[in-house]
Formats: sequence, C-alpha cells, structure tokens
Amino acid sequence: MRTQVGIVGAGPPGLMLAHLLRREGVDAVVLEARDRSYVEGRIRTGVLEQGTVDLLKTLGLGERMERLGLLHHAIEVGYEKQRFRIDMTALTGKSVMVYGQHEVVTDLIAGAEAAGIPILFGVEDVALEGIAGPSPTIRFRRGGVGEELHCDYIAGCDGFHGISRAAVPDGVLTTYKREYPFSWLGILAEAAPSLDELLYMHSDCGFALFSMRSPTVTRLYLQCDRTENLAEWPDERVWEELHRRFESMDGWMPKAGPVLQKSITAMRSFVTAPMQFGRLFLAGDAAHIVPPTRAKGMNLAIADVKVLATCLSAAIREGKASALDCYSEVCLRRIWSAQRFSWWMTSMLHNSLEDSAFDRRRQIAELEYVTHSVAAATSLAENYVGLPIENPF
Ligand SMILES: Cc1cc2nc3c(=O)[nH]c(=O)nc-3n(C[C@H](O)[C@H](O)[C@H](O)COP(=O)(O)OP(=O)(O)OC[C@H]3O[C@@H](n4cnc5c(N)ncnc54)[C@H](O)[C@@H]3O)c2cc1C
Repeated sequence: MRTQVGIVGAGPPGLMLAHLLRREGVDAVVLEARDRSYVEGRIRTGVLEQGTVDLLKTLGLGERMERLGLLHHAIEVGYEKQRFRIDMTALTGKSVMVYGQHEVVTDLIAGAEAAGIPILFGVEDVALEGIAGPSPTIRFRRGGVGEELHCDYIAGCDGFHGISRAAVPDGVLTTYKREYPFSWLGILAEAAPSLDELLYMHSDCGFALFSMRSPTVTRLYLQCDRTENLAEWPDERVWEELHRRFESMDGWMPKAGPVLQKSITAMRSFVTAPMQFGRLFLAGDAAHIVPPTRAKGMNLAIADVKVLATCLSAAIREGKASALDCYSEVCLRRIWSAQRFSWWMTSMLHNSLEDSAFDRRRQIAELEYVTHSVAAATSLAENYVGLPIENPF
C-alpha cells in the first residue's frame, strides 16, 4: 500500500490531520490500534476552544456540535465558600463549546467515511522504518497478516503511550516534565447540570470542578492522592466529598444522580522537543501533555495538526520540503504558553501536602486578584478561550 502521509492514531489530531490534508488534495491513510466503537466511546475531555470549533465548522463537520454542544460565555471561580463569574466573552469577544471529545471523534470518523478517507482500525504491531530517509514505511499486522504502508511522510498522532516518539533515535529529543503530587477522580453522573457554567472550586479539602456533558449529564472531578485506589471510592464517598468541597454560602450544590463512569487521571506536564525527526512529525499527546485543569490537551493537538497540514501541503504540493523545518518551532511556542497557563491554574487551585500556610494565603490572594481585577480576569480569559493558532508562513 502507498500514500503520501501515513498517520498513526485515530484520536482527534490524527483524524483532523487526514481531513485537513484531504482539503489540500493530499492523500493520507490513518492506522488505529483499537476498533471503531472503542475509539468513539472513549470519554475524555470536553471543552473546545473557539479555534477548534471554527476549524470543525470550516471543514463542514460542525453540524452535530452546533446542535448538541453547549456554548459557554463565562466560567465561575470559587474559594472560601464564594463563587465569582468571569465573563470571557465580555473580556475577549470569544467563547468555548462544551462538547465531548468522543463526540468530536465520532463526527471526524463519520466525515472521513463520507469523504472516503481510509481509516484502518484494529491494526497490530505497528512499527516505523526508514524515518531518517526519503521513503519511510509503516509495518503493521491486520487480521493476523503483515502489511506495509509506504509513505512520503509519517505523522505520529498515537498519544503519550504510542510507538512514534519511541521510534526517534536516542539523543535527538529533549523531554521536559513535571509530575504533580495529586490526581483527579472524575465521574459522569446522570443528573441535569445545576449550574449553566463550569465552576473551578478551591477549598481546604482540595480542588473540585463542576462541569457538564449535556443537558442531562453532569461531569465532576475532585483532586485526590496520586496513589488513590478507585475501589476505595464508592459513589457515596464521592458525593460526600464533592458536597464538602462545593459548599458555598448561597447553599448551591451539584445535583446528584446515578454514576455512569468513574476514573482517575494522573496530572502531569510533559513536552518533547523538537517534535520532528527526518520524515516523522509528532502531534498531540505523543509530543506533549498538559494537566487537565483547563482541558487544553485536545485543543493543543488540533492546533499542532493545523500547522502540520499547512507545512505538509507546501512540501508535497509545492515541492517546498523546507516548509517543514519550522513545524516544531511554531507549535512549541503555543505549547509552552499553554503549559504555563495550565501549570498556573493547577497551582492556584490545588492543595498539596508540601504547601505551607504561606502558600495557602498566596493562593487566596491570587484568586482574589483574578476574580476582582479586570486586567487579571482578562489574562485568564484570553488564555482560557485559547490563543490564536499561528500561521507558519
Ligand atoms: C484518561 C484520560 C483523560 C483525559 N482527560 C482530559 C481532560 O479532562 N481534559 C483535557 O484537556 N485533556 C484530557 N485528556 C487529554 C486529551 O484527551 C488528549 O490531549 C487528547 O486525546 C489528545 O489526542 P491524541 O490523539 O494526541 O491522543 P489520544 O487521544 O491518546 O489518541 C491516540 C490514538 O492513537 C492510538 N494508538 C496508540 N498507539 C497506537 C499504535 N501503536 N498504532 C496505532 N494506533 C495507536 C490510540 O488507540 C488512540 O486512538 C485526557 C487523556 C486521558 C488519557
């Protein structure tokens, strides 16, 4: 088999890249280790920045999102049992869309099917060869049979645990990382959201986030220990802890309901640089991870492939191979800016055993500043809705 761009991974960036390349007249084949229903059902993040929303609409893939997504103009930030509203649209002219990552993936797969973009699900033993030379190859097995995909370029969109980053020879990549001393326990509950906007709540017992997936499903998170065991968190304990953390002077509480899903997510910041080697280009979680405090992971991944599609198109259609040289540099500028913001939000809102009384007072001072100063709120809002995606040329 032969194609111009072989894409490893059918997560949001892999699928989006295939669509963007198709629009430019460049052929791509997507290889995915899991089956279609698994990929479409994988619950993860759910806040889309305006840049991501606009891109889905431009590609003609926004119809379901516009119908089912929840447009949000503001967030709430709470501390010391009080809640404050930050109106992002008033401060920046932009908004965000609450629409699950699995819905985005479902729309991208349906769109690929309609456009005849090949996605090979359930491939095994994927291996990259010849990435330093002019004709890289992806070897894999499908239905027990070995196959080869010959490409001009390969996009490694296979997430943090994928094989693409590991295919780069030792010594080429530099990694930067920070592990946080806490995790997030998240639940999906069948309960109508009892607030219209997301609430980021600082409390003495730890951080909690109120969000929603739809008019009937609430998404809630609470900070927990890094070594926490899910089996020790029966539903009653989760609700008790959520109620303790969300307690506020006006008596508001999230509505409880049957728990549909429960999971623990580690918190880490991770960046690899550069994001390319030879004819292999990394995008999304394969190259960087942000803590989920501001749901930037998928948005960053989509921004990567918007830049990559422009560079690949110039290299393939116009013969300008040097157009790919700037890929890492352009993406990393935005990635580091998102890393700074996600780290800042995380450290402002979470408690850590290492924190002293000084740290707690500093957090409260920061929360007071962000919720009472227009300048500070504007800085938060500008980063929250997402900085513009740079055009590489
Ligand atoms: C459990 C979890 C919870 C998260 N929650 C949040 C959140 O609340 N907020 C937030 O902002 N971000 C969150 N994220 C991060 C966000 O979902 C990611 O940033 C986003 O999915 C990036 O997409 P990706 O395609 O790069 O990686 P992934 O979504 O991991 O997709 C990679 C794809 O590649 C496939 N793949 C892997 N290896 C191979 C292989 N060898 N061959 C072929 N295919 C392969 C995988 O099956 C997968 O489909 C979460 C991530 C995880 C893992």
